[in-house]
Amino acid sequence: MDYTLAKRALLREFRQGLLSRLEICDAHPELIRAARYLGAEASRPCPVCGGFELRLLAYVYADGLQRNNGRAFEVEEGLKLAARQRGGACYVVEVCTNCYWNHLAEAFLARTG
Ligand SMILES: [Zn+2]
Repeated sequence: MDYTLAKRALLREFRQGLLSRLEICDAHPELIRAARYLGAEASRPCPVCGGFELRLLAYVYADGLQRNNGRAFEVEEGLKLAARQRGGACYVVEVCTNCYWNHLAEAFLARTG
C-alpha cells in the first residue's frame, strides 16, 4: 500500500494555507529520537521545509512479536521482521528531524495464511 495520495492532499492543504505548519509538523519527541538513531536517509528533501533531514523508519506489528510489537526499527530490519511474522505489518514512516513533519509513507502486510 502506498500513502502518497493522502500525503499529497495534506501537503496541498498546507500550501493553500488550510493547515498550519504546526498542525502537520507534529512529530512526537520519541519519534524524532527514533528517527535520529534508526532513520535511514531519504533520497529526497523534506516536502515541508525543503531540508535534507528527512529520515525513514519502520514500525512493526505482529501478534508473535511480544515486547518488540510496535517498536521502531531500521527500515530493512523492520521489513524482514514483519515478513517472517504471521499477520505481520510494517509501516514505513517519513520523519523530518528539522521541522518535525511526519507521515506514513508505505505499509507492508505479510501474508496471513
Ligand atoms: Zn522538514
